Amino acid sequence: MYKNLESSIRYLKGVGPKKAQLFARMGVATIIDLLYYFPSRYEDRRELKPISEAQPGDELTLKAKVLYKNVRRSFRRRGFSVLEVLVQNDTGKINAVWFNQPYLENYFHIGQEIVLSGKVEKYDERLQLNSPEFESCGNDETSDDDNLSVGRIVPIYPLTQGITQRYLRWLVKLCLDEYIPKIVDPLSYDIRKRRELLNLAQSLRNIHFPENESLQKESYNRVSFDDFFLYQVPVVLRKLNSKQKKGISHSVDESLSSEFQQCLGFELTTAQKKVLEEIKNDMISNRPMQRLLQGDVGSGKTVVATFASLMAISGGWQVAFMVPTEILAKQHYDNIKKQVTKLKIGNKKISIALLTSSIGTSEKEKLYKKIKDGKIDLVIGTHALIQEELAFKNLGLAVIDEQHKFGVSQRALLPKKGDNPDVLIMTATPIPRTLSLTVYGDLDISSIDEMPPGRLPVKTKLYDEGDRKKVYEFITEKINQGRQAYVIYPIIEVSDSLDLKAAEEMHKELKKVFKKFNVGLIHGRLKQKQQDEIMQEFKKGKVHMLVATSVLEVGMDVSNACVMIIEHAERFGLSQLHQLRGRIGRGEHQSHCLLIADPKSEAALMRIKAITKLTDGFAIAEEDLLIRGPGEFFGKRQSGLSELRIANPITQMHSLRAAREEAIKLLHHDPGLQEKQNLQIRKLVKQRFPEYEKLMAA
Ligand code: ADP
Ligand code: MG
Repeated sequence: MYKNLESSIRYLKGVGPKKAQLFARMGVATIIDLLYYFPSRYEDRRELKPISEAQPGDELTLKAKVLYKNVRRSFRRRGFSVLEVLVQNDTGKINAVWFNQPYLENYFHIGQEIVLSGKVEKYDERLQLNSPEFESCGNDETSDDDNLSVGRIVPIYPLTQGITQRYLRWLVKLCLDEYIPKIVDPLSYDIRKRRELLNLAQSLRNIHFPENESLQKESYNRVSFDDFFLYQVPVVLRKLNSKQKKGISHSVDESLSSEFQQCLGFELTTAQKKVLEEIKNDMISNRPMQRLLQGDVGSGKTVVATFASLMAISGGWQVAFMVPTEILAKQHYDNIKKQVTKLKIGNKKISIALLTSSIGTSEKEKLYKKIKDGKIDLVIGTHALIQEELAFKNLGLAVIDEQHKFGVSQRALLPKKGDNPDVLIMTATPIPRTLSLTVYGDLDISSIDEMPPGRLPVKTKLYDEGDRKKVYEFITEKINQGRQAYVIYPIIEVSDSLDLKAAEEMHKELKKVFKKFNVGLIHGRLKQKQQDEIMQEFKKGKVHMLVATSVLEVGMDVSNACVMIIEHAERFGLSQLHQLRGRIGRGEHQSHCLLIADPKSEAALMRIKAITKLTDGFAIAEEDLLIRGPGEFFGKRQSGLSELRIANPITQMHSLRAAREEAIKLLHHDPGLQEKQNLQIRKLVKQRFPEYEKLMAA
């Protein structure tokens, strides 16, 4: 039978349907899958050290014969057992021991040749190998090649039961020998030369059976580059395509902007002015804007978006401003309405509307009609804005705030309400520039890297349950000074009624403790109207202390609130903690964030450490990325980064950037990937990202 790289591995020598099933569990179906099934680590078995020279603490690999084996069971501790296997070769004898795995005994027989690899420890004045890796130098047909397991850098693969290291090494070697000649390298010689990359065949060989460490590293670099490159091709393609579309060329009325500036009580920061200029240029150009505005919580993105909105409105276009929660929509609506109330275009005031799912049907229909007739200039709302029934007369700008709260598809729906309107996407989870370039590779990026003046960094400290009294005294003191406080309680799952009950109980409890003060409660399952009322009371200072769930996470802006207690802080993610904390530190007074936490896991401890130490959003995002890894950080559907098989965008940022540059170069030259030398790239991109087929055909 003719076999190619995409043939099932069951047709390989030594693999039957049964083994194929085991391989399926490891995600290996085809020959190419097997070639890309990489070791999780390596063992350097180039030099086999003499047993006689071993020292406690050494990593020792040896090949020896089994002399004796024995399982000792403990009479005092039930179920406790030690398997001892004494082995010997020309250089000496040593005992290997395994604890509580008596069944291993059957694996070994006297006289058998085995390879052991593990740490040398001293026990009872004798040296022994503690739970070493072991392999039989067995002589069945599929594992007869000793050269693969000894005397070299040896690959250690993640396994499933029924597949052994030796068997897998043997099979991979067979595959390499037979199929590597059939592999087509997607990277041209030019690219490889420019980027100093090995060819694919050599890389795959050296990933499985490295000749030396440096070739092994270079090989990983090479396949990581492929990973990044294949991922960047569709991203860059999408960007090129959107640049070719015809959009709206806004005619921006500067006088409206300067009037608006006068309505604000503050001057824009240099960073805000800079990003506004970038946005303005995009809006004037006749290509549709696709811009991401990133800036830390509190850096003042909303006012930038308002300026942009006014630019569109001044030319007669409508603006849709979408935010993730009703509270935030209401807050933006109130603020912006106040800020623009004096402005006029011609002799007409600017009309603003709030659209959320909680407004009544008849009111909603009236609003729909007004929007359709162009009587509304700016509509601020939640997901309600992407309902099918809603249509605009002439949508010129779509703003999406806190984009990470929306799915990619939701985000894409809003601009569809117009004819290639400009799009401004805002995020408070800033990430390093190189990364954002690639994750949001089809967007242009503006960053606000400066806070409004006079902000004092929030002081953050960790407390435990025993400090509760101290914490309460601190709140009392601050409220007596006229400040207000948030007490945040985690609700991890919206459906988790137990958590909610805990927040409610907390509220009751605090009402008792702080009899003198007015203690409020807000969470996402209160009616919208109730939430609004509570927020209004808090803004006015009538509520001193607000017990809240993470509904507070986005956007809330009350500058007199200077204290935040976060209960069970270990249960929040790092970025989430940063977002929450961003609710304070917005006014002239020093703000304090008090974490009450009992971090048990390593990751939780790292998060708490990071949040108490760092205040800069970029640094926090980087740390979060490190703790969680890119897949989780960006969310699966968000980015396509989960398609990266090998590459790590954090540690290999340099390679990521190079791959992006090469993708741009390639697609400028051959946007349809039609040329012969690019067909392999086309094929691989199609395999990984089926949805981009249309783009490539275009
Ligand atoms: P973000 O959405 O980026 O987290 P906001 O837009 O909510 O931040 O702004 C935070 C607060 O800072 C708001 O009260 C806003 O009015 C205020 N603000 C924005 N820009 C400035 C500035 N240049 N000077 C002073 N205050 C500002
Ligand atoms: Mg905001």
